Amino acid sequence: MPANLYDSRELTAYRGHIISPVQEQELKDIRDGVLIVDDRGIIVFCGAWSEFEKNKNSLKHIHNYGDKVIMPGLIDMHLHLPQVTVTGKSGEHLMKWLERFVFPSEARCADPQYALRIANWFFDEMVRNGTTLGVVFSTIHKEATDVAFEVASRKGCRAIMGKVLMNANAPDFLTEDLASSLSGSEELCQKWHGHDNGRLLYAYTPRFAVTSTSELLTEVGKLWRAKPGTYMHTHLSESLEEVEFVKELFPKSPTYVDVYHDHGLLGHNSIMAHAIHLSDSDLDILKETDSSLAHCPSSNFFLKSGVFGYRRVESKGVRFGIGSDVAAGPQMSLFCVMKDANYMQPDQWLYPTELLYRATLGGAKALALEDKIGSLDEGKEADFVVVDPTHRTGIIDDILSKPTDEILSALVFLGDDRVVESTFVRGKEIFNYESAKELSQSRR
Ligand SMILES: [Zn+2]
Repeated sequence: MPANLYDSRELTAYRGHIISPVQEQELKDIRDGVLIVDDRGIIVFCGAWSEFEKNKNSLKHIHNYGDKVIMPGLIDMHLHLPQVTVTGKSGEHLMKWLERFVFPSEARCADPQYALRIANWFFDEMVRNGTTLGVVFSTIHKEATDVAFEVASRKGCRAIMGKVLMNANAPDFLTEDLASSLSGSEELCQKWHGHDNGRLLYAYTPRFAVTSTSELLTEVGKLWRAKPGTYMHTHLSESLEEVEFVKELFPKSPTYVDVYHDHGLLGHNSIMAHAIHLSDSDLDILKETDSSLAHCPSSNFFLKSGVFGYRRVESKGVRFGIGSDVAAGPQMSLFCVMKDANYMQPDQWLYPTELLYRATLGGAKALALEDKIGSLDEGKEADFVVVDPTHRTGIIDDILSKPTDEILSALVFLGDDRVVESTFVRGKEIFNYESAKELSQSRR
């Protein structure tokens, strides 16, 4: 502990039970731990309170959460902002579900007033669920996407987001001409990528191969490659019907993965959501190109899309995190998504420690942001959540005094939005359960 560091900045302490991933099966686990955060929102110490106590005069504020859990903020690798209005609409597989529920709801974002209302709702939901970074699909509308970035900026959220590109096989009201689709993306990237020292980042976001011409895929790939640090974010191989359609549309590419590879869309910072129906050689291409995956188990369950090859992908060494895929995933809570990840595997267990890793540090690695976020370590930005598994869920009262593996198991298998007490991004509290409750009562 360099003593001079503590003299030079305003420091805040957060005491509690610190649980943070080190790797897949390994945790940092400190009861009566403390997280010391400076006024830039950087973690300057994370360890036992007893170790820090002698420096306590250097603290400006101390928040004591007792035996409640302090863990890294959750990272949602894939979700759709405009779809918060259509969660829970079931009864169709992917292609019909898009046509019947999703496309009409996305069309409404042509109205900027509506887009503003939805963006406010979406980011409030995100932080209420303890998600400190969302990798977000907007709609094809440039203005609505701009509004969404403004809302995220104002609320202090962290997001990787982009305007959707679609120029084929979609209703007229969601089909754009190629030139304006590309220029709209480019202008938004120019305006928002890197905003607030990298809190907001841009992702080029072609919806998927089905709604893209070959030319669109080629051109958006060029834009992405020309701007290092930006992301490519799309869907890959979610449903069998979709895979068949892609084969018809792109006969020159042998597989769905090849379609993106042939158009230059795979690589470092390329995020492919779902990635279910893939061969070993498809996975080899994803690994060789250093592409990342967003595993969305709740969505796969909900739309009956298929089973992600969790252990197979892991053994290939392809980087991946988990995503809620709202609205195909009915809930934004990544605790529910962690549980579903385990339930979706028919013949093997996924353990709470590794699921927490996927929802935090694993996601950060898949996004190449692990030097900034994903775990509670000195030098990283202080994105964290305070959770209380007994909070309003009916989990046994004395769970916080139990061994850590029992606490984590309770969180993963019984937890949801209700366990989140506070959400912090870069040391700034952007959600607090008590204040949110007061606000909603005063609005009634
Ligand atoms: Zn999706």
